[in-house]
Amino acid sequence: MMSQESMQKEGDPFSNPTIRELNDKFKPFWALKRSEALLEWDLEVNMPEKASSSRGFILGQLALLDQVNIASLYPILEKARQIKDLNDQERGVVRILEYLKKFYTKIPPSLLEEEKRVAVRATVAWRESRKKSDFKSFQPHLEKIIDLKLQEAEKLGYEKHPYNALLDLYEEQVTVEDMDRMYSRLIPALKRILEKVRSEKRYVGTHVLESEPYQIENLEKVNRRLTEILGIPKDRFRMDVSTHPFMTNISRDDVRITTRYEGTDFAKSTYGTIHESGHGIYELQLNEKLEYTPIGIAASTGFHESQSRFWENIVGRSKAFVSLISPMLKDELNFLAKYNDEELYRYFNRVRPSMVRVEADELTYNFHTALRYEIEKKLLAGNIRASELPSIWNDTMDDYLGIRPKNDTEGVLQDIHWSGGSLGYFPTYSLGNVIAGMIWYNMRNEIDLDKTIRNGDFAPIKAWLYEKIHKYGATYTPKELSKRSLGESFNPDRLVQYLEWKYVS
Ligand code: MG
Repeated sequence: MMSQESMQKEGDPFSNPTIRELNDKFKPFWALKRSEALLEWDLEVNMPEKASSSRGFILGQLALLDQVNIASLYPILEKARQIKDLNDQERGVVRILEYLKKFYTKIPPSLLEEEKRVAVRATVAWRESRKKSDFKSFQPHLEKIIDLKLQEAEKLGYEKHPYNALLDLYEEQVTVEDMDRMYSRLIPALKRILEKVRSEKRYVGTHVLESEPYQIENLEKVNRRLTEILGIPKDRFRMDVSTHPFMTNISRDDVRITTRYEGTDFAKSTYGTIHESGHGIYELQLNEKLEYTPIGIAASTGFHESQSRFWENIVGRSKAFVSLISPMLKDELNFLAKYNDEELYRYFNRVRPSMVRVEADELTYNFHTALRYEIEKKLLAGNIRASELPSIWNDTMDDYLGIRPKNDTEGVLQDIHWSGGSLGYFPTYSLGNVIAGMIWYNMRNEIDLDKTIRNGDFAPIKAWLYEKIHKYGATYTPKELSKRSLGESFNPDRLVQYLEWKYVS
């Protein structure tokens, strides 16, 4: 994706012998981690149904080996910490290894093991409760998970709020203060824009294409052609089907996404594919020189999500992109013959408050994660009890979006995250949107986005993302990278500016 020349110019960033030794000793940890990723991909895509408990056993045993592998680095890491004249990449290696060390040494294996065990049972219970729309049957499992997460936060240590310890696992050095500031800017601004959009009626809430059935073979071709349009190299990438779409990378040259086909409302599958492709482009474009090292990874969960959101929404849902792909869409989906580009644009950009986060549009999405963030924070601080969740959930939805879930299934039971023990994850989705807004704000000064997208020439966009973000891997903390490459610390106003530009100007 980058020209061979500019890659070579960068050279090997590691010259310090102690850091080189660390990078060398890190390789078995890296290789085992990526093998686990392959087993996890297989679990979602290929695994026979009955194999789930044996697969759980295998993954559990490998996780113990991770701990052994990383522990062999600690003596050299101690030495590396004392070195004063390291370059940015070398300092990044030390920082990431310290971060891993903290996790693996502060949390006892028995706690990790219990968390895994409880999460497996809770996920089964969640599926049942969700089917029956009965939060009460899930509540004791959630209470147990909260208790374990609080123990984990205590072990890891934190300042001010236990949430900080958990958030740090997804977004290094980002705190409750940062996320409070982000949402306090976003929520009122989004309410204002949403109000305006709904009164102006330029964007519709529903569209007849939602109920149009499609043939799966046809949409498979659409999704495949989309990845070609985005310039994703076929020989380093694959796409499969799974219940919950995701992206995973086995290596820089082996990036995999999944998608799903529900039979109607084809945009769900198509934009899911663009979203996961956005994650994929980040991994495909990581700096070769950092591969197999501790910083040869994405900067953070939020930065990763910024890439998927940028491609899905800012590129994918633009007028220019719709005009680029509409001939291809009409080629594969006969029922689109009577719709012009403007109609397709309206279908892809419906705006309506909805109950379900994963189906939310650009304007309402962040309300969904704000709600979850507030609940998680209060649960961990002991300000609310798990039994109060359904009523708090429904009241907040009413306050944010003016709608009330009819039952727990479309309300508090909709996400898998809590049952799996992921607390502290939700705000990183919004941070991803915020960073995507910052990327738009900066990129448009240098690239004529409309023209570039309309021509389907994505090389300048990819080169920009490489230079500003992908090239660095995890050399810097997410906040440092933001300041360095996007000119300022996380600034939600850029997302608001983008949304105003698109929806109300
Ligand atoms: Mg994503």
